[in-house]
Amino acid sequence: MLLRLPTSVSEARQCLSEGAIPVGGATLQWAVWQRDGFPRQAMSLREVPEANVLGAGELGAAVLLHRVDERVPEVLHQAASRVGTGAVRRTATVGGNIVGSTLRCLLPAALVLDARATALDPEGTFETDLTELTAKRPLLLSLRWRAPLASGYRKLPETGEPPLVIAAAVTPEADDRPVLRVAVRDGYDVLSESVPYGPEPGLVLDALAATPLGALPMPAREAVRDQVTDVLGRTSA
Ligand SMILES: Cc1cc2nc3c(=O)[nH]c(=O)nc-3n(C[C@H](O)[C@H](O)[C@H](O)COP(=O)(O)OP(=O)(O)OC[C@H]3O[C@@H](n4cnc5c(N)ncnc54)[C@H](O)[C@@H]3O)c2cc1C
Repeated sequence: MLLRLPTSVSEARQCLSEGAIPVGGATLQWAVWQRDGFPRQAMSLREVPEANVLGAGELGAAVLLHRVDERVPEVLHQAASRVGTGAVRRTATVGGNIVGSTLRCLLPAALVLDARATALDPEGTFETDLTELTAKRPLLLSLRWRAPLASGYRKLPETGEPPLVIAAAVTPEADDRPVLRVAVRDGYDVLSESVPYGPEPGLVLDALAATPLGALPMPAREAVRDQVTDVLGRTSA
């Protein structure tokens, strides 16, 4: 197998059009290749600058999970810091987690930030949302979002395997009316809802309870309530 290391988006596009298979840290892919056979060529984005951005409003697909720190919103930082073991986080990438894994601990965090994805196909780069990204699984280059007013993340190992994950964020919107977004990974499904943010936490929680999140089992509902109360308490809109 030839591992190609493009140094620009146009080189990466060339690799894709020549059939190179994307690979991040190979924490999942290696076992698949050992089972099914290795491809003729694979491609890592680790030398592509656009896939290595890390800042207040952007995160590259080639960034290793252990490098995701307080430069990104708390919800994303916490999500990355709770994936697997230290060894996994030192090897696995953002792209491999969000697009290529089944657990996708980073996905609820990205959903509540209302992140947009920049992806690449043989025709060139394009913007897409997370629903399309996870459904069609193109090559992810990076994620972008608007800075939230507050955000938070909880993973509850005591809830079983896979553990319940709750992400919440209050984000500013174009019309200046902030929105509370909550995403819950229950089993392997991710449920995501949003309600208008207001200064009265009780009203916001009531609005949230009227969404499909209100139909979660009681322990999950209580954990969502605690997490949302915490985030609302730290929001100054
Ligand atoms: C012991 C262990 C514990 C784990 N625990 C957790 C956990 O708690 N939570 C969790 O979420 N995950 C967990 N994982 C999964 C882990 O997060 C994934 O292994 C990892 O995210 C995959 O990343 P990778 O960079 O190694 O991807 P790879 O193994 O390189 O690739 C996986 C798939 O993603 C595709 N891919 C890679 N990069 C891109 C890209 N930029 N765009 C599109 N597709 C791409 C590849 O083609 C492949 O199909 C665990 C894994 C292990 C081994």
